[in-house]
Amino acid sequence: MENMKEASGLLTVRAEIARACREMGRDPASVTLIAVAKTFGSEAIEPVIAAGQRAFGENRVREAKTKWPPLLARHAGLELHLVGSLQSNKARDAVALFDAIHSVDRESLAQALAKEIARQGRRPLLFAEVNTGAEPQKSGVLPQDTDGFIAACRDRYGLVISGLMCIPPIEEAAAPHFALTAEIARRNGLKLLSMGMSADFPTAIAFGATHVRVGTAIFGLRKSTSTSP
Ligand SMILES: *Cc1c(COP(=O)(O)O)cnc(C)c1O
Repeated sequence: MENMKEASGLLTVRAEIARACREMGRDPASVTLIAVAKTFGSEAIEPVIAAGQRAFGENRVREAKTKWPPLLARHAGLELHLVGSLQSNKARDAVALFDAIHSVDRESLAQALAKEIARQGRRPLLFAEVNTGAEPQKSGVLPQDTDGFIAACRDRYGLVISGLMCIPPIEEAAAPHFALTAEIARRNGLKLLSMGMSADFPTAIAFGATHVRVGTAIFGLRKSTSTSP
């Protein structure tokens, strides 16, 4: 069976989510699994949809724009999450296509998103991305600037930020970064936490993740590394 790999990866990830939730006394329904499908085509995505998966992630607007409209037309009830960084000039396409944007990280982007949300009447769920490791090459708001950024989104642009997203530095233990992100969310009254990828989603769930973004553990290794976070 050609399509077994993705579906069995999905089952394994679901079982791991259930186990991590059980250990924390959390309801598995409180964790949304986002299957990150970047670089994979519909032949890999269809079996995952057939296995019951509904939330999918992409990290590039352009790739998502060619890939997803036919899939969305064929399947009701899917939700699409933008997990990669977003250029302000793609805000229009992003608001039109995505149900959630995990990478709000600067005021110019907040302004562009606010304008498109008003124009299109669509309200994607918004996460502010926090650069918890203060890595210069990485996008995201610095931890010490996050409270002010959330307030600016609200007060200057009327944007509701519902949660935080982080991508811990690759060479460090993830737990302290998840703990920091959860703490910033708590003090700002934000309920949603987008954190945890293939290597560390059970740890993220222990720190309160409500959205885990899992690619490799479902779809297998990506051929290109250029679209990795
Ligand atoms: C690719 C990507 C993921 C998924 O990473 P895996 O290690 O393949 O699970 C999660 N989040 C973001 C932002 C990504 O770009």
